Amino acid sequence: RPIVVLVSRIRVEEKLLLGELERRGIPVEVLDTRTAAFGMERLDGRYRGALSREISHTRNLYASRLLEHAGLRVVNDSKVVALCGDKLLTTLALREARLPVPRCMVTLTPGAALEALDGFGYPAVVKPLTGSWGRLAARLGGRDAAEAVLEHREALPGPANQITYVQEYIDKPGRDIKAYVLGGEVVGAIYKVSSQWRTNTARGGHTQVCPLDDDLVKLLGATAEAIGDGVLGIDVIEDRDGNRFVNEVNHTPEFHGAIEVLGTGLVGRYVDHVLERLD
Ligand code: ADP
Ligand code: ZN
Repeated sequence: RPIVVLVSRIRVEEKLLLGELERRGIPVEVLDTRTAAFGMERLDGRYRGALSREISHTRNLYASRLLEHAGLRVVNDSKVVALCGDKLLTTLALREARLPVPRCMVTLTPGAALEALDGFGYPAVVKPLTGSWGRLAARLGGRDAAEAVLEHREALPGPANQITYVQEYIDKPGRDIKAYVLGGEVVGAIYKVSSQWRTNTARGGHTQVCPLDDDLVKLLGATAEAIGDGVLGIDVIEDRDGNRFVNEVNHTPEFHGAIEVLGTGLVGRYVDHVLERLD
């Protein structure tokens, strides 16, 4: 039985994963989430399970839930996607597991954040609950910037954009850490080095190997335990004193920057993990 590979845009990552599956002679059926229709029939007789690489969080969440309803195991499962796709829910889960996260504050309207920020302090970061590549994340140096950004947030469409998630700004040593954890096992970590405050590889900058020390491995293992079984890209921010904070967890991580320095072994480990879970 073939494995369903859920995708929309095929990026480098999807090409590598599909290539690795093909190299191993594993039959796949690529399902484009932009055109697929889901009947409610069971699919476990037809497919071995599913690997989701859907780029849109909302489509990923509903597609994986639908496939689970049809009896398929999906990597990542819809619970992990729901949790990681929302930065606030992720933060709460991490805090409940007593993991270090940047100090944060939430208001349910952008306007309420303006007053509250005086007490919370600047510089602060405000960012959408859902999104990636640092899009719409803003650093607020003071009240003027906050006023402007919050007014713009108020004008954004959709009720979720009114929920205002604020973090303290962590003064990083020009880089942060992205680690890859598969099924609770730390496979590797990189530094994303950048002169910009948002170090997303999609914004330029470069990558370096990040050595795995015991504390980092412990932190990453505990983070994965708090989030759930799956393929996780964990963002860790360090401050200038070397304190580490878990910033967010990606459920469908990009890894083109990582394989440049860690090698393509990551792709094989990814496929190993998926196959283990689907058997
Ligand atoms: P995304 O899902 O868009 O990657 P992040 O929360 O990871 O959202 O923010 C994007 C980047 O911005 C991070 O990789 C990090 O470099 C930077 N960043 C985010 N939050 C903070 C913060 N509180 N302090 C300092 N830098 C931050
Ligand atoms: Zn990130």
